[in-house]
Amino acid sequence: MSFIDLINRFNSFDFEEYFNSVTPADIEKTLNLDHLDSRDLLNLLSDQARPFLEDMARKASKLTHQYFGRTIGMYAPMYIADYCTNYCTYCGFSAAVDFKRTKLSLPEIEREAGAIAATGIRHILVLTGEAPAKTPMSYLISAVEILKKYFSSIALEIFPMDEEDYRTLNRAGADSLTVYQEVYDREVYREVHPRGRKADYDYRLLTPERGARAGFRAINIGTLFGLGEPRSEAFFAGLHAGYLEREFPDVEISLSLPRMTKAKGGIEPKNILSDTGFVQCMLAWRLFMPRLGITVSTRESASFRDRLIHLGATRYSAGSKTDVGGYAVQHSDATPQFEITDDRSVDEVADMIRQSGYQPVFKDWEIV
Ligand code: SF4
Repeated sequence: MSFIDLINRFNSFDFEEYFNSVTPADIEKTLNLDHLDSRDLLNLLSDQARPFLEDMARKASKLTHQYFGRTIGMYAPMYIADYCTNYCTYCGFSAAVDFKRTKLSLPEIEREAGAIAATGIRHILVLTGEAPAKTPMSYLISAVEILKKYFSSIALEIFPMDEEDYRTLNRAGADSLTVYQEVYDREVYREVHPRGRKADYDYRLLTPERGARAGFRAINIGTLFGLGEPRSEAFFAGLHAGYLEREFPDVEISLSLPRMTKAKGGIEPKNILSDTGFVQCMLAWRLFMPRLGITVSTRESASFRDRLIHLGATRYSAGSKTDVGGYAVQHSDATPQFEITDDRSVDEVADMIRQSGYQPVFKDWEIV
């Protein structure tokens, strides 16, 4: 059964009715279980779970320490191109936004890599927009081959590909894949992806499975909070992660919780996820999946990220730039994909992690 079959089972499910039917006794029952099912995840995402957040936090913290120790993995994003043929209404790289596009040359990728590696970062996340004609396979392979000299782990957040293409990139040295569904609600998905290749909901939904089959050792998925109804989106993201963990037990699965931030030409969020709602999602996911990696990016503020360390987060980006170049190579026309909120350096974030009683981990994987 693919994840499409699983998600389709919820086509006529009335989330509002279910969330309204949850009682405090249901939450207590869920909290006393060792293994949670999808109904328990719904319970923990309901408004009725709000008075239980402290209990959830205690259990989430214990589970996180049990499975991850007191560690936070560190990584940095590297945008190598901002060409895009899609029209995502929430993104500063949309083809509808008029700005001078750019991509890094291979020598520029090498300079950027050197500058990022000098901060101590050993896990890199490589990003492009979706414009295969501008960033073809040959360019991506060359980029990965350069990055291998500087980093022990290379994750890709590029346009969705067929399994064979992913296999090629995996053999070249990329070991991880990040791909967000953006929004699981099909109607909202259609609205915010009016045209371009990304308008194909099912192809995107099956991308993590293709990546896992192609040999990536880690897959990171997520929903962009601000588009769909947050509780049902958090539910589908958790369901998706649980499905991947069951189907691909050798693959490390993680979830991100990006919240929409301001992007040039982008729409305003329709469904704002509050800080409390954010924490509730994280805790619910941790209780639902004790081994799940949880990534928190610099979209979130420094003070908020400092608090999340204790609540189940396992991976932080640091010193991030969200435009092409920015570390060593400056392109005067470069436009950020979205605004970052925590602009602390890698050293500052690592110090904060240590002061919180955790260990920043720069390298826990090596390409052999
Ligand atoms: S979200 Fe990705 S695919 Fe959509 S416009 Fe932005 S860069 Fe392109």
